[in-house]
Amino acid sequence: MHIAFAASECVPFSKTGGLADVVGALPRALAALGHQVSVYVPRYRQSKLSDPQTVVRSITIPFDDKYRFCSVVTAGTTAGVRLYFVDYPPYFDRDALYGSPAGDYPDNAERFALFSRAVLEASKILGVPHVFHCHDWQSALIPVMLRTLYAEDPAFREVATVFTIHNMGYQGLFPPDILPLLTLPWELLTISKMEFFGQVNFLKGALVLSDYVTTVSKKYSQEIQTTEYGFGLEGVLRNRAATVTGILNGVDYDEWSPQTDKFTVAKYSPQDLSGKLQCKKDLLNTFGIADANSKLPVIGIVSRFAAQKGFDLISQIMDRLAREEMILLVLGSGDKLYEEMFQRLHKQFPNKIAAKVAFDNAIAHKIEAGADMFLMPSRYEPCGLNQIYSLKYGTVPIVRATGGLDDTIEPWDARSGKGTGFKFTDYTGEALLATIKQALLAYQDPSSWQTLMRNGMARDFSWGASAREYGKVYDRARQARASADAATVTADLKKEPVLG
Ligand code: ADP
Repeated sequence: MHIAFAASECVPFSKTGGLADVVGALPRALAALGHQVSVYVPRYRQSKLSDPQTVVRSITIPFDDKYRFCSVVTAGTTAGVRLYFVDYPPYFDRDALYGSPAGDYPDNAERFALFSRAVLEASKILGVPHVFHCHDWQSALIPVMLRTLYAEDPAFREVATVFTIHNMGYQGLFPPDILPLLTLPWELLTISKMEFFGQVNFLKGALVLSDYVTTVSKKYSQEIQTTEYGFGLEGVLRNRAATVTGILNGVDYDEWSPQTDKFTVAKYSPQDLSGKLQCKKDLLNTFGIADANSKLPVIGIVSRFAAQKGFDLISQIMDRLAREEMILLVLGSGDKLYEEMFQRLHKQFPNKIAAKVAFDNAIAHKIEAGADMFLMPSRYEPCGLNQIYSLKYGTVPIVRATGGLDDTIEPWDARSGKGTGFKFTDYTGEALLATIKQALLAYQDPSSWQTLMRNGMARDFSWGASAREYGKVYDRARQARASADAATVTADLKKEPVLG
């Protein structure tokens, strides 16, 4: 089967979060199963291409004000996956992917509409897939365009669409007059399609018009059908619950393994954990606390700084946490609020907490390897990748039991020696503090702590199983599309006047 991915991020060319890891790895796993896979992403200033070749010189994108002309370049085929970049410098040759410190770029709707339409047009030249697999609001217009502007295009007659939600919190909301600018029909502005409290909601369009919807863990696929986690779209998802499913993200262990990590000073394995201590000392050095006693447990955080990630709970408990024997090391960037919060906490408790405000892959790896525990107190977490990386590095996760965090971490039980981490359910500082204390206490017993580390290291979240699940979803999406087509043909036949 030929599957074409369309997404706004892909490792190693562009990344702000987990979406990039998924789009970098899942296509390879699908190719390994024998599928033909193409990946379309925008060509950003950050996308470093070694030998780009233009494969489509000019695509016309009609907008209401004027036509725009973009091209498509390829970076060749890697691990069986063909990589295509939509090239339109006025939109993508910018400092960042989505916005400046002042906020989102004001033309994000146009940027990703152009991208989506370019993918459809390019595929007619480069190969129409059996399935378009689209991700998050930035490529949500692909299913919308296929069922509106391109509904009568014979090239796409049998093409199915699968849409994956990586985060319901980002929906792509724009004023209604964006529709005519993008040449999309006004009839999309109804409650049953894209209208959302007077605005146009790109994500909603894809949730309504895709043949199949997936999200990145089983638990999150249930949570987003509730008011607490659905961000106002829970009803849309409940309506189509039979074609919504959760498939856990996998991990690319070529990138994330303590035995081969390119960024760490020492390698280690479940059989020989000794290298982890060197990684820990290097990590403490990196954060400028070289004199610290490396016997103290180190808790690591690597995260986008966003309200979703639960940092308000840390702020609530920090004065009490600072009394414990531990060091908290934080790497993150994003919301100024949390950047300032962690810097303030560092000033207040200089020996207990240190923070780096940066997006730095090398330091992210050093934290995975050098920390003893990894903290993710998220308010919600569709899948979460860092807790899964942490398992492989013997860095014990402390997580809130939500979404993928709940699906991937089993609570440690010292008596049976089973489990991989520590979990709390109530979104309160008290629950978080109690759980961290539980972990710190468990750390005091080195032999059972090593059992806990090895339990996590033995877990396998490689992509193979999830890729096979996606294969089944593609089949179901194609069946759904075939039945929808048959229904349209029957309806059209009924409309034919009876002759004779
Ligand atoms: P999300 O997609 O919500 O940001 P995930 O846990 O799914 O969360 O994925 C986050 C990914 O981004 C991980 O690969 C993580 O290592 C990486 N990451 C997040 N923040 C940083 C940062 N400041 N520096 C380096 N990598 C980061």
